[in-house]
Amino acid sequence: MRHRIAVVGSGPAGLTFARVLHRHGHPVTVLERDPAPDARPPGGTLDLHEGLGQLALDKAGVLAGFRALSRPEGQAMRILDPDGTVLRDWRPGPDDRANPEIDRGQLRDLLLDGLDVQWGRAVTGVVPGGRDGVLVRLADGRRETFDLVVGADGAWSRVRPAVSPVTPHYTGVTLVESSLDEVDTRHPDLARLVGDGSVAVYGVNRALVAQRCSGGHVKVYAQFRAPLDRHADLDWAGDEAVRVRLPALFEGWAAPVLDLLRRSARFVRRPLHVLPVPHTWAHVPGVTLLGDAAHLMPPLGAGANLAMLEGAELAEAVATCPGDPDEAVRAFEERMWERAGRWGRITADGLERLVSADPAEALALFDEVQPS
Ligand SMILES: Cc1cc2nc3c(=O)[nH]c(=O)nc-3n(C[C@H](O)[C@H](O)[C@H](O)COP(=O)(O)OP(=O)(O)OC[C@H]3O[C@@H](n4cnc5c(N)ncnc54)[C@H](O)[C@@H]3O)c2cc1C
Repeated sequence: MRHRIAVVGSGPAGLTFARVLHRHGHPVTVLERDPAPDARPPGGTLDLHEGLGQLALDKAGVLAGFRALSRPEGQAMRILDPDGTVLRDWRPGPDDRANPEIDRGQLRDLLLDGLDVQWGRAVTGVVPGGRDGVLVRLADGRRETFDLVVGADGAWSRVRPAVSPVTPHYTGVTLVESSLDEVDTRHPDLARLVGDGSVAVYGVNRALVAQRCSGGHVKVYAQFRAPLDRHADLDWAGDEAVRVRLPALFEGWAAPVLDLLRRSARFVRRPLHVLPVPHTWAHVPGVTLLGDAAHLMPPLGAGANLAMLEGAELAEAVATCPGDPDEAVRAFEERMWERAGRWGRITADGLERLVSADPAEALALFDEVQPS
């Protein structure tokens, strides 16, 4: 018998899950809140690790496509002092494919190819334990039932309450994301500063990171410690005002570094929230979580990787189990909690050290994790 399976969310977790099920010939319903794949800007670039995101892409059958699109040179990393002094300038070797970068939009299209996603279908809640299965309530007023509902609906998951009362809490660090376009022709000085990969500058309780995406785009991330709503007015201030306000938080930093902010556009404030580590729950038959919905952590290169590997592993477990998939889901959850707990601790510690009162901590962390 084919189980009726739904996944809520078409981010890296949901799409990888759906793609691997599809590859095994198992039908799956993908419910996505966004009205279309390109309804929102897709965001910046992701580095996919060999044993995590790349393994998931292999299971999904799209590793060759990833290799063709990804940017191994994007692994390059330069660290500057706030006064502009270059402290580290690391470049990958010619055959280094450990963590190549790919634009989020390119990754989405790679995973989406041939999948049937139901766009514009926001889930409002999930009720397990019904006689006909797990009830899914949708914002359009409709209700549907499934044997297994997988919540891959991100930080503010509407599926999570069916298994856990926990909600994300603020880390104390706020990130403001912005963009530079056509950097090589319009801002060649900034293009040189960023290089092929990323440039990071660490000061007291502040950091500025700029990452090259494909097509001459650069994402700039300003990060600082502040109470949750201290800078909420940035949300409606408009680009022109933010271009003045934000550099003021980095007073005294070198002009070329601040130019990354002064010439940026499309500022978006993102207070960083996390779930407690570990986040586990008493197993609920017919419902589980993947990715940020299960283990939201600081954005330090692990979240999408874990989300994708979990999607691939759960899909394989469910597609290949001979009977009731519940035992397979239960075993998967144990594995996910253990691995996500480990990464949750690493990334929480990483955020403490990267946006810290002692900027030497950031450099020490870089030296600990970067291959020489
Ligand atoms: C600035 C930044 C940089 C990052 N860089 C990296 C990196 O380099 N490497 C890395 O591994 N990770 C990175 N991360 C983390 C990574 O983005 C997340 O961990 C990853 O996107 C989680 O994937 P997901 O599929 O679980 O959730 P999401 O990507 O959040 O996707 C959730 C999906 O569910 C949909 N949805 C939400 N609610 C509903 C609903 N009620 N009904 C239906 N659909 C719904 C959403 O529209 C969305 O499509 C970064 C994060 C940030 C903020």
